[in-house]
Formats: sequence, C-alpha cells, structure tokens
Amino acid sequence: MSYKSDIEIAREAKKQPIQAVGDKLGIPTEHLLPYGHDKAKVSQDYINSVQKNKDGKLILVTAINPTPAGEGKTTTTVGLGDGLNRIGKKAMICIREASLGPNFGMKGGAAGGGYAQVVPMEDMNLHFTGDFHAITSAHSLLSAMIDNHIYWGNEQEIDVRRVQWRRVVDMNDRALRQINVSLGGVANGFPREGGFDITVASEVMAILCLARDLKDLEKRLGDMIVAYRRDRTPVFCRDIKAEGAMTVLLKDAMQPNLVQTLENNPAFVHGGPFANIAHGCNSVIATTTALKIADYVVTEAGFGADLGAEKFMNIKCRKAGLAPSAVVLVATVRAMKMNGGVAKADLGAENVDAVKNGCPNLGRHIENVKSFGVPVVVAINHFVTDTDAEVQAVKDYVSEHGAEAVVSKHWEFGSEGSEDLAKKVVEVVDAGNANFAPIYPDDMSLFEKVETIAKRIYRADEVLADKKIRDQLKLWEEQGYGNLPVCMAKTQYSFSTDPNLRGAPTGHSVPVREVRLSAGAGFVVVVCGEIMTMPGLPSKPAAENIHLNDSGQIEGLF
Ligand code: ADP
Ligand code: MG
Repeated sequence: MSYKSDIEIAREAKKQPIQAVGDKLGIPTEHLLPYGHDKAKVSQDYINSVQKNKDGKLILVTAINPTPAGEGKTTTTVGLGDGLNRIGKKAMICIREASLGPNFGMKGGAAGGGYAQVVPMEDMNLHFTGDFHAITSAHSLLSAMIDNHIYWGNEQEIDVRRVQWRRVVDMNDRALRQINVSLGGVANGFPREGGFDITVASEVMAILCLARDLKDLEKRLGDMIVAYRRDRTPVFCRDIKAEGAMTVLLKDAMQPNLVQTLENNPAFVHGGPFANIAHGCNSVIATTTALKIADYVVTEAGFGADLGAEKFMNIKCRKAGLAPSAVVLVATVRAMKMNGGVAKADLGAENVDAVKNGCPNLGRHIENVKSFGVPVVVAINHFVTDTDAEVQAVKDYVSEHGAEAVVSKHWEFGSEGSEDLAKKVVEVVDAGNANFAPIYPDDMSLFEKVETIAKRIYRADEVLADKKIRDQLKLWEEQGYGNLPVCMAKTQYSFSTDPNLRGAPTGHSVPVREVRLSAGAGFVVVVCGEIMTMPGLPSKPAAENIHLNDSGQIEGLF
C-alpha cells in the first residue's frame, strides 16, 4: 500500500474561509484581521473582551526522548484536537510557528503529518503572517541602536568588549556565527567582535511568547541586559531607549494567528522560541486566549518531556498562572525499539523484546510528569508497520506503571483514528484529579533549582559546576534575580547530558558549562553541553531541490 505525502494531503484540503473557522469559536468577523483567505490574526480588543470568560481545560502533549525514528508530538496534538471536536467538544489547538531557515537545510515541516495537519502548511513553514520578520526587525533595531549609542559618545559607558546583544537573521548561516563589526574606518564606529543567532534564539522571541500583553512586552524588552560597563554593572535595553520602538514593531506580531486543521477545526499557531536556551512553547497570549474561547485546549512543548514538559510546567505555567489538567505522553513502537537498542535500519522487523527493553524510558517520563501533580495518558502514535504484539507490549508496560496507553491512528485516518484517545483524555480531564504545582519554589536558590531538576527529572547523582559559575549565580541572586526559574539547555536525546545514553540512565553527573541571564524573558539559562544558536546547512541542503512547479506549487519543501 502506498501513502500520500504530507504536502499531497495538505493540497487536497477543503479549507473553509477563516471567518467560518473563527465563527466556530464565536469570534466576530470584525475581530479577525485576515492575512489572505485562510489565516487571520485575532484583534487585541477581542482578546481583552473575553478576559472575564471561564477558562477551559489545558492539555499538554509531550513525548519520550526523541530518536531518529520520530515521535510525532505535533501530529498527535493536531489529531487529538480533531478527535475532541469529533466527539462534540469545543476544542482547539495551540502550536508553535516554524523557523524559516531550517526548512532549507533538512526537509522539514512543523504542521503535523498525514491526516493530522494544520493548513496552509507551506505558509506556516515560510513567511506566514510575518511574525518572525517582525521579531528579526525589532531585534535588529536594538542591535543598531547599541552600536549607534557607542558611536555617538557612549554616554552609558558600555564596555565594547562586553556587548551581550548579538544580531539575528532567520537563516541557517554558519558564516555569521562570529564576525567583526564596524570595520572600515572612523565613520563606521568602533570595531568589535559580534555575531549572529537564528531569529528563534532571540530573547525577543522568548519575551513575545511569555508576555501577557503589550504593556508587559514593553516592560520585559526594557529589562533585557544588552551589555556591561567596565565596572560590570549591566546596561539595559531601556538605557538605550529602544523598547518603545521595538514594541511598535511587534504590535501585530503579538496577536495570535488563527488557522485550521485539515478537518476545519481552529488552531492558534503563534510564537516559536528555541527549546534549549528558551522554553520552547507557543505564546502565552495564544494559550490564555484559547482557554477563554474553547473548553479544551491542546498544546505542545518541544523536545522530550525531560526538557519540554519540565519547562512548560516550571516556566510557562508558573509565569502565566496556567495549570494543565492532563498530559498526553507520545510514544511510538519504533522509538521504543530504538531505546531498546535496535538500529534505525532494522526498525521494520517485529521485535517485541526490544520494545520491552526500551519501555523504561517511557516509564520514567510517566513518573516525572506525575510528580507535577498532573495525570498522564500515553498516546501510542501508530505507524502502519507496528505489529499488534509490539503495541500490546507497550500497553502492558504502561498499565504496570500507573497510566493507560491508547493507540491513536490520526496520521492514517484523521479524527476517526483518534476518537479513542480523545475519549480517554476527556475522561481523565473531567475526573478533575490534577493538582498541578511546579517542582521547585520561586525562593529556592538558583543552584538548588538546577539540582532539583537534575536529580528529580534526569535522575542524576550530582550537578558539577565551577566556582566561577556558582559565584555568578550568587551575584545574580544579590542583584534580585534569585526568584527566576532556570531554563535547562541540554541534549534532547537522553535524560543525561550524553546523547548516546538512551533508556533510563542513573548515576550520571550533570556538568554545567555556562550560565546566562535572560532578564527580560525572566529565566536563567543553564547550559549543559554544546548548544547551537546559529545552525548551519548540511552538505546537500534541501534548498537545492526546492522549486516552483509549472502550476506554481512549491516542490521539495516537504
Ligand atoms: P514532533 O512534533 O514530535 O517533532 P511531528 O509530529 O512533527 O513530530 O512528526 C514528525 C514527522 O513524522 C512528520 O513528518 C510526520 O508526518 C511523521 N509522522 C508522525 N506520526 C506518524 C505516523 N504515525 N506515521 C507515519 N509518519 C508519522
Ligand atoms: Mg513538533
């Protein structure tokens, strides 16, 4: 049997005008700001007008540690949203926007897959409604104003060797990682080292995704640390007086984007911060607005649950006052097999023992998520190659480990395939047993916060950090940043900091390489391992095969 590609399915979508999609949520046409026929921003006035509504229930979709076999968090998020609508619930999904640059490296797509997709998927993966361009512009304005400030006399006494604020572009361009700026003589300023990150790594992105409203956005932008003086005191964005103009550039980008699934159900696609140096979730404003207008809101966090769900709970939910009612933990038979030691090339053959050997990774994620006080449903995202015996092995394991696993076939059949999952999730949510709390208090020391995550989530024995790093954390505590949450940046492939250590390792150490303060976003980034904030392109970039066909359709992107 042959299956259609994601783009083929997406092209056959019978899309409704975006006003009809808004209508399902009760959003009046005048409050939808259309970008073409199938995308719209939701007006700030409308968002303000629904604030008194009762909140719906929030469901987080997360996963086991990713393997090259693929897990399908977005696909499952979309499938579950459609399944909930199918069983008569007023439900919507909230997912992230895609970064443009990486599409031209590896064949990509961030809109789900099979019969569980968000459309228009080409737009979503390219320019969409221009939010990321706005973020690039706002970030670049500040970059320009800092060098301009130095050029015109440097009233703030910025130490040009200690400018923290880099530049951004939404492209994978390794040549820009480390550069010299202001070369070419007196008229061009004071030469110094600089560099570029990809737009999604900008603190502006993290702020846009955590801000409650435009006022909060402006304040947080002002709070960003852009440089240090010779006496090591911080220079803030507000010292450069850029936050007002940046907010103007971001005014439209702050409004959530409404689109639809293949089954015409509503979806907010908004914001897309990195999941390592930032928290990796769609915007707070999209999630909180969705909760005001839908009864069930399904959202996704990046990477596996050790990073994605942990940050969703400890950063996003803590900061935005959100409380999830249930977590859907996505697992696949293929990924279980890889965790159980099978190579990617051998995934086709039935191997129940390997599935069983891989299950402890899933088991630990179940325990971890429950430690936040939130009930877990395991979704087995079904691949057509999975055998019944393999699926049963996962189900048995999960039921012995305090949860229930439901097979979901949304990729193959859309909502018809995810009805069982939707019913189970509603049962768990409506039972009302969630009692969410972050796993560490605000007033714990920063280092103890890192230790709490390392020991309780990664199951490490210890955290290793130099005196220099510990002193830095103490200094930030003295400066009033001690109550911030920590944002862990480590490999997504393992509970440990070694990407090759699959399964459920214990007894490891977590070495901290570096700590960074994102004072505007409101977290301390703890870097454990190599973290890339400007990706490069592979030897054969996908871009070489991307083109428009004779009908003007995009080929080669997905
Ligand atoms: P994640 O959000 O976890 O990164 P996605 O949902 O984006 O994963 O899926 C990654 C890729 O795997 C997509 O191309 C999607 O089409 C494919 N995929 C997901 N689920 C299935 C499935 N059940 N069968 C076949 N392919 C799938
Ligand atoms: Mg995804």
